[in-house]
This record gives sequence, structure tokens and C-alpha cells, in this order.
Amino acid sequence: TIGMIALDFEANMAAGTSTNGLQYKIPGRVGDSPIIGSGAYVDNEIGGACATGDGDVMQRFVPSYHAVQLMRQGTSPDEACLDAVKRIAKYYPSYTGAVLALRKDGRYGAACHGMDAFPFSVMQQGWTDPKIFQIPCYKP
Ligand code: ASP
Repeated sequence: TIGMIALDFEANMAAGTSTNGLQYKIPGRVGDSPIIGSGAYVDNEIGGACATGDGDVMQRFVPSYHAVQLMRQGTSPDEACLDAVKRIAKYYPSYTGAVLALRKDGRYGAACHGMDAFPFSVMQQGWTDPKIFQIPCYKP
């Protein structure tokens, strides 16, 4: 899955996902990526989030919505993503995935589980290249 969260110069936000789904998926499977709140979510007052990973597990927790609601309560993007990931890992310890969030003020964060590290990139107007980040994943 490619998940993207965008913030424009008027502070309007959008998020979206593009995915090929799961390997060997059952024909007709929808997965988490197109489900609002699961694959991605934006509240234009607060920020946005997107998710990738084991969609059949993740969609039970609507992690993108969860992360945005935590940011609404003042949680930082990093902590919001970590909480969303922890909540899934508590019930599915072998799940693999990541959650990313961008707040309306431009601050962003991410968290992952089931891998050693997870890469994401950030691009901003005026930059010639994106910055690539590699975050270590949460291990209980
Ligand atoms: N979340 C996607 C799905 O389960 C897979 C992915 O993120 O690569 O359909």
C-alpha cells in the first residue's frame, strides 16, 4: 500500500491510499485500504493518518481514525501512531503494519510493528527531494 497525507498552503488536508491488496487474496476482497478510518482518515481541523499492513486485522481497529482522534485530544503524531499500533498488537501480536500521521501544523509521526524498521518519506514545497526516514518498530 502507498498511503499519503497532504497539507496544502491553505492548511487543507487530504489523505489517500493505493494498494494491490494482499498476496493470494480471495477475489472480491476489499481490505482496509479503501475503508475510511482504517486505510486513511482526515479531519481538516486536526490532521490526517494512513495505515499499511495486515489489512484484515488492522481494519478491526480503524487505526487511522484512532490516530486522528488522539491528535484531537492533544497527543503528538508519533504517540498517536504508536498507540494505534499498540492497540492492534495487544490482540494480534504477530501482526505486521504501520500507521503514519500528519498534524495540521505540519508535524508528523509514524509507528510500526512486526518488522525491524519502516521507511516513510516527507516532501515539502521548495525541497528538490523528499526526506526519507527509517523508524524502528515497536516491540513489546
Ligand atoms: N493493507 C493492505 C491490505 O491488506 C496491504 C498493504 O498495506 O500492503 O489490503
